[in-house]
Amino acid sequence: MTGSLGQTAAECLDMIRQLIDDRDEKGTAGIKGTVEYAFWFAPGTWEVCPNGADSAYGRHIKPSDAPCNEDSCKRLAARVAARKARRAQGNPTPAALSAQLARAGFERIAHGRLSAGFRVLKNEGGPATGVRVVWYGEGRRLPLDSEPGRLAEIAEFIRAGGKYAVRYNGGARAEVTARRPAGDPRR
Ligand SMILES: [Zn+2]
Repeated sequence: MTGSLGQTAAECLDMIRQLIDDRDEKGTAGIKGTVEYAFWFAPGTWEVCPNGADSAYGRHIKPSDAPCNEDSCKRLAARVAARKARRAQGNPTPAALSAQLARAGFERIAHGRLSAGFRVLKNEGGPATGVRVVWYGEGRRLPLDSEPGRLAEIAEFIRAGGKYAVRYNGGARAEVTARRPAGDPRR
């Protein structure tokens, strides 16, 4: 660490003191950056982040015993948490439910073709909201409630499987979520 050209020793020390105060003030939230600059933080307050440990350029530090402050690690943690939540909710994934329905003989809508068939889509609003099965009528680019196709059959098939709850009141759309035990407040 050197000061700027023309800076007195006192000014330089003052600058360093300010940098250290700044880091103390930010606390755990301010602990980030490369391993080379980790000397700015008190020993024991930081550790090498396991996400970047094996990469020559990605090596960085995180606060000890706390989540990493780097944006890429925050995004990764959010993805992992969302996946875990989806699994914990017991909701179906579009891919798995779609394959299951196709195996049962329901026509999956073919890409780029306007033949009648179903499609399974993730619901907006996060992992707790489950998926929806929609039915496209022959030649339709959108599901139409006036053309529910085989959706009543599909709803009955999923219900009969016993694994998921199905909300279907006619029309071209059925909601599928995890089946909750009786008395579960989440439904
Ligand atoms: Zn990290």
